[in-house]
Formats: sequence, C-alpha cells, structure tokens
Amino acid sequence: MIEIFVDEKCTGCGKCIRVCPKGPRIYRIVEKNGRMVAEVVDKSFCIGCTTCIMACKPRAIRIECGW
Ligand code: SF4
Ligand code: SF4
Repeated sequence: MIEIFVDEKCTGCGKCIRVCPKGPRIYRIVEKNGRMVAEVVDKSFCIGCTTCIMACKPRAIRIECGW
C-alpha cells in the first residue's frame, strides 16, 4: 500500500498534478488556512513512479511504500 504525504512546504504550484500520469485523479489544489496547497484525493491510482517527488521544487512530497 502506497501512502502519499504533502507537507507544509507545498506552495500549491500544481506541478505534481501536471507531471503525474494520473495527476487529477490523485491530487487536487485546495485552499487551506488561506493558502493554496495540494491535497491527495485518491492515492490508489499511484504507481509509485516518483515523478511528482522529483518535480516538486520545495520537496513537499513524500511517498512510503508498504510492501
Ligand atoms: S508540486 Fe509540490 S509544491 Fe507544487 S503543488 Fe505539488 S506538492 Fe505542492
Ligand atoms: S509517484 Fe508517480 S503516480 Fe504516484 S503520485 Fe507521484 S507522479 Fe503520480
């Protein structure tokens, strides 16, 4: 099972959605406490390719594989 974490360094730039092969199924940009941030909608589509991690400039994404 894959877990995707987005931490407080996220700037809401949306790059993770654009580069992820399943982007809009996994991430969406939402407003939280007056800031735009990426939120994980459905991690079950993630194939663990790590493209989003490499594309995220502030290094806000972490993925853990449980197998
Ligand atoms: S690429 Fe990184 S900083 Fe940009 S929205 Fe996604 S998680 Fe946030
Ligand atoms: S690891 Fe790959 S499939 Fe999973 S969220 Fe990131 S870009 Fe998308």
